[in-house]
Amino acid sequence: MADFEIPEPKEIPVIPRVQPGVMSHSAPFVAKPNFQEPLGFPGELVDNWEEVAVKKLGELTGKYRSLQVYLDSCVKCGACTDKCHYYLGTSDPKNMPVARQDLLRQVYRRYYTIAGQYFPKLVGAVDMSKEVLDDWYSYFHQCSQCRRCSVFCPYGIDTAEISMAAREIMDISAVSIPYGQNTEQRRHWEHWWK
Ligand code: SF4
Ligand code: SF4
Repeated sequence: MADFEIPEPKEIPVIPRVQPGVMSHSAPFVAKPNFQEPLGFPGELVDNWEEVAVKKLGELTGKYRSLQVYLDSCVKCGACTDKCHYYLGTSDPKNMPVARQDLLRQVYRRYYTIAGQYFPKLVGAVDMSKEVLDDWYSYFHQCSQCRRCSVFCPYGIDTAEISMAAREIMDISAVSIPYGQNTEQRRHWEHWWK
């Protein structure tokens, strides 16, 4: 019989109890417009930003079939809820991958599904609003896009791709970080850190 070491069983991790709003005081810092504009970002909300954001969401779901499938197929089984290190570290329920996804999904449903257009309350669909945007900014920047949660999702839903889409929408309509910029544009960043 082969001689090998049997690993010791690991301690079962303790999943923290949810603490709604625990991260509400600690959203990522928004840079001032004079720092954002040289990088090609709007710096502040553009005129009709809600329309711009919703249109961009439609473009992305049209371009990336996977994104639309992810937004349509979550069954809320909860298998991903305790798999994100941001949730484990903060206890904020909005840092659960499924809840993070829902921040984008609720807007997608409102504008791009028939049920959401006619019966928004029944399907958890909401209008694009400043309150929604603030949550996007906070919680889509609390995702490191590691994709750990997607390994545990029986449907293979990739929260990282949903976070990427939300950041891309914020890049053109509101305040953001240089996420959607190409390499040439990102070079300008170097000036800020020297
Ligand atoms: S594991 Fe997948 S299907 Fe289940 S709640 Fe999470 S994202 Fe939705
Ligand atoms: S991809 Fe984002 S939501 Fe999923 S585990 Fe990683 S940080 Fe958490």
